[in-house]
Amino acid sequence: MPRRLFVTTALPYANGPFHIGHIMEYIQADIWVRFQRMQGHEVHFIGADDAHGAPIMLAAEKAGKPPEQFIAEIAAGRKQYLDGFHIEFDNWHSTHSKENTELSQDIYRKLDGARLVYKKAVEQFFDPVKGMFLADRYIKGECPNCGTKDQYGDACENCGTVYSPTKLKNPYSTLSGAKPELRSSDHLFFKLSDEKCVNFLREWLEQPGRLQPQVVNKAWEWLDGEGDKALADWDISRDAPYFGIPIPGLPGKYFYVWLDAPIGYLASLKNYFDTGKARKSGETRGFAEFLAARDTEMIHFIGKDIIYFHTLFWPAMLKFSGYKTPDQINVHGFITVSGDKMSKSRGTGIDPLRYLELGMNPEWLRYYIAAKLNGNVEDIDFDPDDFLARVNSDLVGKYVNIASRAAGFLNKQFDGKLLPVDSDRVVATAKWTMLAIDAEERIAGHYEQREFGKVVRETMELADRINEAIDREKPWELAKRPDQKQRLHEVCSDSIDAFRRLTLFLAPILPKTSERVATLLGLKLPLKWNQLGEPLHSIRQYEHLITRVEEKQLDALFEPPSEKAAMTTPASPSTDGTISIEEFSKVDLRIAKIVKAERVDGADKLLKLTLDTGSGTRTVFAGIKSAYDPAKLEGRLTVMVANLAPRKMKFGVSEGMVLAASGDGPGLFLLSPDSGAQAGMKVK
Ligand SMILES: [Zn+2]
Repeated sequence: MPRRLFVTTALPYANGPFHIGHIMEYIQADIWVRFQRMQGHEVHFIGADDAHGAPIMLAAEKAGKPPEQFIAEIAAGRKQYLDGFHIEFDNWHSTHSKENTELSQDIYRKLDGARLVYKKAVEQFFDPVKGMFLADRYIKGECPNCGTKDQYGDACENCGTVYSPTKLKNPYSTLSGAKPELRSSDHLFFKLSDEKCVNFLREWLEQPGRLQPQVVNKAWEWLDGEGDKALADWDISRDAPYFGIPIPGLPGKYFYVWLDAPIGYLASLKNYFDTGKARKSGETRGFAEFLAARDTEMIHFIGKDIIYFHTLFWPAMLKFSGYKTPDQINVHGFITVSGDKMSKSRGTGIDPLRYLELGMNPEWLRYYIAAKLNGNVEDIDFDPDDFLARVNSDLVGKYVNIASRAAGFLNKQFDGKLLPVDSDRVVATAKWTMLAIDAEERIAGHYEQREFGKVVRETMELADRINEAIDREKPWELAKRPDQKQRLHEVCSDSIDAFRRLTLFLAPILPKTSERVATLLGLKLPLKWNQLGEPLHSIRQYEHLITRVEEKQLDALFEPPSEKAAMTTPASPSTDGTISIEEFSKVDLRIAKIVKAERVDGADKLLKLTLDTGSGTRTVFAGIKSAYDPAKLEGRLTVMVANLAPRKMKFGVSEGMVLAASGDGPGLFLLSPDSGAQAGMKVK
């Protein structure tokens, strides 16, 4: 029976372009979707931008654009990434849409009707200059415990005390600098603690195959928490000004972005049905009918940072508004680059667009990510040396190698005709072709369980055995002996048939290469898993399939962007050493406060500085160890270059540079501003 699958990835926040973490998730889901399609299942693969909330409203304001224009520009940039990495969503939509407004308001009304929404007054800081309530991250002040200045509204970076923003001394708004006022406002809450929600979730979580065991355990911790950790009701409203969906019947109130974000999955699906795109894939029902059908499976791919929303609020919201609840939630870990955590704000790691602009093959990355992924919630690491080895030695050196060793003889000596596979053949390649047939079911099982690493491992082991068999048979020697023509034909036919099977095994991971192989071997497209059992008759003229990665491409990928710009932009025409004011103003000099200074194990000259930049903290490695006792640096202000590209050093990533003076003699002198300067001020 063909399955009907509605598959989504987490909705990316529309305040910036995709990073490598997004691309990893999409590749994971895309591979799984392609495998299901090869099995003959009906799949609807749906994505959308998460476009609401205060951060987008403020980012748009800063960019001098209406938020609608801001998010439309972000959305317009999505296609180049998705096409570039062969990620084929059937529909890409936005939470800022009529479908999402309609669905969010409908779900809210039904939850309200089920008596799961209540109103409660909340005291919150209000910025009188901006005229808006402030989320915790927009408030700073002095730590109520140790008195350290410029601490965020939730926890002190100096002493680690956790508190609510109303406890800060001398609080100020990071948006305007104004002293915030405590004001009361009515908020709406979703009553997750209600007995019927809790009972439903207990049952929902335990359904076999729905969640990974680690995820079930995590959700149980929240569900069973007591005291401080007890399951809390959820504040689902925000006051104007807010970029979001208005709450019906309550002027000036909007849904909190996290309420309407997951509903965006359904909104994009609805848009896909309403615009007739679903019909193209053979689905004749309407949106509501499709979603309500018993045999429709709703499957989400998400990262481990959003388990809470997807395993508690989301199923409860759907259940008590009468919608289908998710059938499966597949959680993955993060991607690190050479062991460093990805960070949106710091921009270290791999820029996916740069990867494409350098002309690097998207299938290398798909293959590498697949090789690293399993069905558990584990982080994976992108290691450039490992990437080079796996692509060049395995993908090209083992898999493609089989075709390049056997195809030429078939083209030249046998007019491209193949002998049928025969298990009684005495040549070495026959045995391994048979083993490739045996592997079908296991590999399909690995795909289903998202154990892509096992798919790759098993496929490459088969490739090893087949290459060894070719080594034993030595077709290049058989080709010189007219009496061995039959044997040569058998060996090469077996090898190409094995190559065809390995291609089908890898097709969800390598969609373009497998299409080229299909053309080479005359296989019907789109490729289906049941083609594994079809006989192969001929091969067309062989052309090389995948090139190797070059080390210089990886060097270019990891080169900090500013150095790239410096190398590719012609130098200033000025020859007398002067620069223009425009050139100078490219350097973003800021006052920074040294909140922490530490020695670095194994570094003679460096100190590791943690700098408060007024809008967050940065780590900078500075060569000032000879001149300063780290303890004496803490708390003082200095000047930093804030827009220096992050640099990966032996000891970590340095995210800027502090300025110091030195002469011919010994001595190193850190710059400091006059008193009164504050962290984050611009130096100009
Ligand atoms: Zn403190």
